[in-house]
Amino acid sequence: MHGVPLDLDDVRARARAAFLGFAVGDALGAPVEFLTAAEIRARGVHREMTGGGWLHLKPGRVTDDTEMALCVARALVEEGGFSLRAIADRLAEWMKRGPIDVGNTCRRGLRAYIVEGRLEAPPGEWDAGNGAAMRVLPVALRTLGDFDLLGGWAVAQGHLTHNHPLSDAGSVLFGKLLQVAVMGLPLARMRAECDALAAVHRAFAFDPWRGGCTGYVADSVRLVLHHFFRSRGFEECLVAVVNEGGDADTNGALAGMLAGACHGREAIPSRWIRRMDPRLLAELDELALRLAEASPLFTARAEAVRLRACGP
Ligand code: MN
Ligand code: MN
Repeated sequence: MHGVPLDLDDVRARARAAFLGFAVGDALGAPVEFLTAAEIRARGVHREMTGGGWLHLKPGRVTDDTEMALCVARALVEEGGFSLRAIADRLAEWMKRGPIDVGNTCRRGLRAYIVEGRLEAPPGEWDAGNGAAMRVLPVALRTLGDFDLLGGWAVAQGHLTHNHPLSDAGSVLFGKLLQVAVMGLPLARMRAECDALAAVHRAFAFDPWRGGCTGYVADSVRLVLHHFFRSRGFEECLVAVVNEGGDADTNGALAGMLAGACHGREAIPSRWIRRMDPRLLAELDELALRLAEASPLFTARAEAVRLRACGP
């Protein structure tokens, strides 16, 4: 996947910044979720952790996006690998506790698991939402360095709730882009992944961008990538994305994970981080590190070092 030697400390730092950026994007976007861009503009540019919105959030509060990704991350770390049942159990427990928000397709899929033990939603024309893509971050970190493994796990975990080819393709694309960014590879490498997918699924072509900010996965891909590739830093990217409104928290989270991995923790405004729950951030940090260190990128290298040490 790469021809240059990677600095694993740099990979660790980028993995942690990705999960932090994801949560920051969720918390920044949630207060303007479901507003239109014009409604936001009428009140001024949204660039602070204001709280509020339709969920009446405290400033810095994350929503289902971060909480569901956290469930997947905990399952991967605690199981020492991929167990779809363990992921489903944690998501089901989370839903039973009465979270602040759950998307309709996610609710339906988790309910089918709780009631019937079903681990795969039936194919559905309404399943092209971004709810599976918003859980791909932990899977991408745990499979760093192995696109095939990423593809298999991302689709399997996605199908718990969303079973649609566009959801699969969007989830895997976000996962691949995250891996490329966490490995510190050039932006052109990320762009090449996007162009390759757009050649197969025209719904993902984002240049030129024609707007659209719903929770439809192709809208999320186009909106996030449009702003990600044209912005110069974390703050600029996130402000541009959430001010589009619509599914602003989910789009903010997806943009935040890519921009976090790309620009690093130093680029994430400390005035945003300060507003967030320190216990949550500590857990995200720990999980990101453990996911990355359990990935093929790290373990294959450890294996190579061991072989060298044992060699002649
Ligand atoms: Mn949300
Ligand atoms: Mn949302």
